[in-house]
Amino acid sequence: MSEESVAAVREAAEGLTRGISREYWLQCAKEKKFPQKLWDAMAETGLLGLTVPEEYGGSGGGLSELMVLNEITGRAGIISLFFVLGSFARMPIIKHGTPAQIAKFVTPTATGEGRMCFGVTEPNAGTNTFRLQTTAAKNSSGWLVNGSKVFITGAKESTSMLLIARTSAFDPAKPRGGLSLFILDSHTPGIEFQRLNIDVLGESQYLVFFKDAQLPQDALIGEEGKGMKYLFDGLNTERLVLASMAVGLGNRALDKAVAYAKERAPFGTPIGSYQGLQHPMARAKAHLEASRLVMQEAARTFDRGEDAGPLSNMAKLLTSEACDEAVDIALQVHGGYGFDQDYDVVTLWPFARLMRVAPVNNEMILNYIGEHVLGLPRSY
Ligand SMILES: Cc1cc2nc3c(=O)[nH]c(=O)nc-3n(C[C@H](O)[C@H](O)[C@H](O)COP(=O)(O)OP(=O)(O)OC[C@H]3O[C@@H](n4cnc5c(N)ncnc54)[C@H](O)[C@@H]3O)c2cc1C
Repeated sequence: MSEESVAAVREAAEGLTRGISREYWLQCAKEKKFPQKLWDAMAETGLLGLTVPEEYGGSGGGLSELMVLNEITGRAGIISLFFVLGSFARMPIIKHGTPAQIAKFVTPTATGEGRMCFGVTEPNAGTNTFRLQTTAAKNSSGWLVNGSKVFITGAKESTSMLLIARTSAFDPAKPRGGLSLFILDSHTPGIEFQRLNIDVLGESQYLVFFKDAQLPQDALIGEEGKGMKYLFDGLNTERLVLASMAVGLGNRALDKAVAYAKERAPFGTPIGSYQGLQHPMARAKAHLEASRLVMQEAARTFDRGEDAGPLSNMAKLLTSEACDEAVDIALQVHGGYGFDQDYDVVTLWPFARLMRVAPVNNEMILNYIGEHVLGLPRSY
């Protein structure tokens, strides 16, 4: 990270928010249409290539740059969940993949010619990723994949997929073992998509079926059986990028609440003067700023190469709660109009609420803090 590169990303992200409106984002979300203009603008400004090394056609940068981008797009209400999850997906390939895998699958995602989705969650395993059931069986042509993944953002619109699959049976003595990472063409024969009925979150989510999908030998990333370890390496980054999004979106909700509360005056004085509304808004602001400070300290800890697990988990917990709190008071301030989608307040709620559930639910975050920070016994 350098101050200059963070400033350059800030400038590009602010430019992006001037060119792509919240109205466009909402229209795509409602019509379940892929936000192509947003991706094209991100490709043009080099934002799509963030975290991809320059020698592979990317713009370089790391966690801090990604966080700045997401806080700004969050505040503008033009978040791309697909882009964020795709950035997580390409990280283990950049770190553990071969130069040929990176050139074939990661480079196109930096230029906008390709889009990568992140295939982890399964219908039965849910949060318990150690119990994933999708299998990749070795055969003479490579790997034969069978099983299913659920909630995969942008799966059908993607060109490639980072997939985690079981390459050997579950061993309770080594619960993280037996799982391997693969990079594949999303439209490999044997892969089918079923769109889920999820609304107002931007890009669509899919149930993905694998029925004897044949992957080549070189689809495997790094070493067989180390997939979960490779994914776990990126967890702190994931927590902090999500946290930056939550801070951005929470501030957007509060901006709208404040603007409305200054104008609306059913009893002659603006409702923003009523302490019943002003204090919850002030409290939400304090919580957003406090959680932002934890997030920034977590990022600094990460950048220093120290253990950022405790602070990153706390940041994800606190920012997602503060964001939800901000949207809640924004709804209260808007009264009945808060529920009119044209006022674009209730439409902030699904995303804000989602951040307490995905990509990891806050109960798992609390489990981490309970176990690893407080030293309490594990309950599950
Ligand atoms: C819009 C959206 C986009 C997504 N995109 C992707 C994607 O692109 N790729 C991908 O792989 N996944 C994606 N996900 C999946 C997301 O990561 C999962 O929903 C999440 O990991 C939880 O799995 P689950 O929904 O099966 O919940 P479950 O595992 O069924 O858990 C349900 C609830 O039980 C509680 N709980 C579960 N386990 C514990 C525990 N040990 N201790 C205490 N409480 C617990 C939590 O409150 C949790 O919310 C997405 C989800 C959504 C909604």
